[in-house]
Formats: sequence, structure tokens, C-alpha cells
Amino acid sequence: MSDLSYQRVQQALQTLKLHRIPDCLDHLAEQAASHSWTYVEFLDKLLEAEVAARTEHDIFVKTRQAHFPFVKTLDQFEFAFQPSVNEKQVRELAAMRFVAHGENVLLLGPPGVGKTHLAIALGLSAIMQGLSVSFVSMSDLLEQIARDAKTDRLNQRLQLLGRPRLLIIDEMGYFPLDRRAGQFLFQLVSRRYQKGSIILTSNKSFADWGEIFTDSVLATALLDRLLHASHTLNIRGQSYRLKDKLKAGVFTELGTPDGRKEG
Ligand code: ADP
Ligand code: MG
Repeated sequence: MSDLSYQRVQQALQTLKLHRIPDCLDHLAEQAASHSWTYVEFLDKLLEAEVAARTEHDIFVKTRQAHFPFVKTLDQFEFAFQPSVNEKQVRELAAMRFVAHGENVLLLGPPGVGKTHLAIALGLSAIMQGLSVSFVSMSDLLEQIARDAKTDRLNQRLQLLGRPRLLIIDEMGYFPLDRRAGQFLFQLVSRRYQKGSIILTSNKSFADWGEIFTDSVLATALLDRLLHASHTLNIRGQSYRLKDKLKAGVFTELGTPDGRKEG
């Protein structure tokens, strides 16, 4: 390639914002010559490098925007430890058809059984497939609601939480919701209904949701929308956090979390 055309190519790549190709142009051009690639094969390799770099950047940006409290994948989940979790069902959910159909996922179970881990892992699968994800814990959401109510910004918050294709709301049930928070949550679920999926985790079974809400009519209406098209995973079993301690016998006197004495 003449110096002049080389410079023009570099200039054009800048203009077209193809930022990865300049790094690998020389190397790939050499490979093309030594392996006698066709022109199309060469172009294919250049574009492949650009697309790979963009995908990686997109995943990085979306993961940062999601605000996960930690990053854990499905491959890091020991299904053998938690037999009540159906691996096949989780892997099917990871294919994200539920998001395409605007369905919800509810992960229920006691502390430490992996609800947040699974929610984040599914969130990451969504990001890998190019979907936008947002994660919020119920306690953070309650703080945001209280703050936004003071500055009259609840509507903006509602819009913001309406945007991502997948919204993860973690730890419903640890705190009671006052009337305003209950109404906000109802509006949020209604706004996303059949359009934007929600993954919700809770330590409470649906029967106990009345206790979380001040208004049981509102709780019923919200559950109605949330459950209409949904996948519920009831996780029963031991806390993974206590796994090693259980093994070491620290909890034998107290019995296991599900009330059994370790034998
Ligand atoms: P929960 O949200 O149900 O309270 P977490 O998802 O926060 O539980 O899990 C607690 C910790 O244990 C996390 O670090 C999580 O990655 C890990 N964990 C839970 N279950 C499993 C599992 N089956 N395999 C691997 N790690 C697990
Ligand atoms: Mg959790």
C-alpha cells in the first residue's frame, strides 16, 4: 500500500469511527499477504475485529450502567448445591425469551440461597444479548422514592425505571412499604406490564405480601399484574453463605436453617 493510500485509509477509519481496525490493520495485512487471503477474506477479518471490539465495549458499558452489586455468572452457580433450582429452567430463562415476551421472573426463598446471584447472572445473560438492564435493591429504591417525593421527581424516576428492557428489583419483603412506596411500585409494574420484564427477588411467599404493603387491595392488584405472565422459582434449601460453616459443624447446635438438626 502506498504511503498516501495508507494515510487515506487511516483518515477514513477515523471519520467512520472504526477505532479497532487501525490497531490490527498492519498485522492483518501481513497475514493476508502470507496466507494469500482473498480481498473479501481480508475485509472479513478486519470487520470481525471491529465488531468484536464494539460488542465487548457495549457489554462493558451496559454492565456498568446496570449497577450490579457484584458480578456473578450462571457458570459460577453450583446447581448441585441447590437441587430445588431447576437448571434447565434457569438456562431457558437465560435465553431471554421471557424478555422478548415481556414476562417476569420471581425468585423466592430464604436468605443465602442464591436469589441475587441468579438475578445478576440472568441480567448478565441479557446484556450479552445486547439488552439493557438495571438493578436496584428495594432498600435503595425506597430511599430514592423518599428523596424524589421531596423534590417532586417521582415521575422522572418512574420514567427512568421504565426504560431498561430488564429491571431487577432485589430483596422485596425485608422492609414494609408505606402507601407512597406501594403506589409507586404499583405504577412501575403497571407501566412495564407486558412491555418490560422484571426480575424480582423476595424472601416472602406471595401469601405474605399483604404484610409488606399497607394496602392489601394494592398488593393484590400489583401481584395480579406481576404474576400474569411470569416464571416463579421457589428456592428451598440451605444458605450457601453458611455452607462451609455447616460443614465445619459450627451450626450443629442450632440446627440447619430449615430447622433440621445436622446428623
Ligand atoms: P440471596 O440473594 O438468596 O440471599 P445470594 O445470591 O446473595 O443469596 O448468595 C449469597 C452468596 O452465596 C453469594 O456470594 C452467591 O454468589 C453465593 N451463592 C449462593 N448460592 C450459590 C450456589 N448455588 N452456587 C454458588 N454460589 C452461590
Ligand atoms: Mg439477595
